[in-house]
Amino acid sequence: MNTTSTPSLLSVAGLRKVYRTRHGAIKALDGVSFDVAPGETLALVGESGCGKSTLVSTLLGLASFDAGTIAIDGNTTTAHSNWTKMPPRRDVSVVFQNPQSSLDPKMKVRSIIGEPLQTVGVRGVTLTDKVTELLGQVGLGPEFLKRYPHQLSGGQQQRVAIARALALEPRMLVLDEPTSALDVSVQAQILKLLKALQARSNVSYLFITHDLGVVDYLADRVAVMYLGRIVETGPVSDVFSDPRHPYTKALLDAVPVIDPTRRRQQAPLDGEVPSPINRPSGCSFSPRCRWATSTCRASEPPICEEKRGREYLCFHPLSRGQIGDLTGSPNEAA
Ligand code: ADP
Ligand code: MG
Repeated sequence: MNTTSTPSLLSVAGLRKVYRTRHGAIKALDGVSFDVAPGETLALVGESGCGKSTLVSTLLGLASFDAGTIAIDGNTTTAHSNWTKMPPRRDVSVVFQNPQSSLDPKMKVRSIIGEPLQTVGVRGVTLTDKVTELLGQVGLGPEFLKRYPHQLSGGQQQRVAIARALALEPRMLVLDEPTSALDVSVQAQILKLLKALQARSNVSYLFITHDLGVVDYLADRVAVMYLGRIVETGPVSDVFSDPRHPYTKALLDAVPVIDPTRRRQQAPLDGEVPSPINRPSGCSFSPRCRWATSTCRASEPPICEEKRGREYLCFHPLSRGQIGDLTGSPNEAA
């Protein structure tokens, strides 16, 4: 789907968030910008600690930010000093990784899914009908209304969490690793469900995952994050077949299952994400990058826009030919 010319539903620009800790300031988000169109799925990938959950908290109004703007359906939030937790918003909702901790164990399914509806005045039989309908949408029958979370399987719990998130018909669903706590077969069912729900309602997804197979299955575009920055973004097919940033390439090489015909041409990513307190100078990825030069270590790479919606932050972007040149024999064993 080519949605880059459609007006955005979500537009994030120059977002910065610093955690001030005893050990120093952590730049969890360091100038993050991206857009999501109506009905589009943007996947956000990156190693643990790169700032994905912080981004989710700022989008949901659960955490303040230090600079930048977040516009959702034309409503713009800017950074401000007298920030207080925002009231729950109808247009964006969230599904977290672990349904066990996100569902109140003392509440029955009817109340869990019904709670957001009650906040807008839905009561009694209308509430039960609406909750039953939402249960149906996520593939669960009315017999689930009276059950408690502990009486459900992990997959059923996550279906309930999705039904609750959809209760107020949000324009956007933020999914923070929604399947990574589930068995593989259950994961597949939930992903299929999410795809079907989107086809029906045109809801947008911001899908956070480190499973590139999931990105391939579900997303239109992908944004690759590294230490608080988006280092590459573009349509999934372009980025996966022809990555520009060496970090994206390394992530892809670490997962040979995406394209079994593709040979592993480079050692998978090694080394750890540097401490966000003592960031390397220049490009944050340079200490782990086999192509880094003195320029990369001295200055921050500019944003390169190859075409609309296809950007990367790198002084020495890869190209198909270049990858071959630098990695030697194409006959090298995978
Ligand atoms: P991810 O979800 O990609 O793993 P996070 O957003 O959780 O990343 O974290 C980004 C960085 O911010 C990490 O270095 C993490 O240690 C730090 N961080 C996250 N939450 C807090 C917090 N409440 N206080 C201080 N540092 C935090
Ligand atoms: Mg996280």
